[in-house]
Amino acid sequence: MAFNVAIDGPAGAGKSTIAKAVAKNRGLIYVDTGAMYRAVALYILRTGTNPEDTDAVSKVCVGADITIAYEEGIQVVYLNGENVNAFLRTEEVGNMASKTSAIPAVRAHLLNLQKNLAALNDCIMDGRDIGTVVLPDAQLKVFLTASSEVRAKRRFDELTAKGEQPDFDKIKADIEQRDYQDSHRAIAPLKQASDAVLVDSSDMNIEQVIARISELCDERA
Ligand code: C5P
Repeated sequence: MAFNVAIDGPAGAGKSTIAKAVAKNRGLIYVDTGAMYRAVALYILRTGTNPEDTDAVSKVCVGADITIAYEEGIQVVYLNGENVNAFLRTEEVGNMASKTSAIPAVRAHLLNLQKNLAALNDCIMDGRDIGTVVLPDAQLKVFLTASSEVRAKRRFDELTAKGEQPDFDKIKADIEQRDYQDSHRAIAPLKQASDAVLVDSSDMNIEQVIARISELCDERA
């Protein structure tokens, strides 16, 4: 049986940075499910579909053929054969993903892909519902969080380092709205699995979080 680690938590908690580092030091594949939801969102944007129209999104989303490949250790998402990695990390796509991922047909469309990847590979998968829905039998489940203030500050620093002039209050409001949408949706809401280990990184640096989760992997392996 493959060794599976599930990492869930709110936007900006550092899940992908941490999961990538743990994947590397423990020889696991990193599966970024947010990128899959973002690729579907990109498709919804490109087709000009109204995200509030659940029926339309449900019909259109099946036309988004999502496949995953690993190129030099990096997850590459293909949307209908096109490598779309470069288009996925914008606020526009993230906000659209938060809306469309609440639609059951969108989740059903991606569930098998995620389960199959985990059945075939020792992996660390991050998202919102990995421990609760996608991999309920994962050997290790982690709920990684931090206060919205800290998460907004990290995002603010990241954008400032890129030479942008971000608005802290707007970033914080966006994060809080995304948290609300992700936690209050009817299907697969963001919540800590009853058997997940809670890691609050508000007062931890990246190295400390990586060390803590790597240690948990060793205990469960
Ligand atoms: O983690 P990331 O910000 O890339 O995810 C984008 C959006 O996709 C999230 O806001 C969330 O609504 C959705 N998502 C989800 N379930 C997952 C991963 C992401 O609903 N397993």
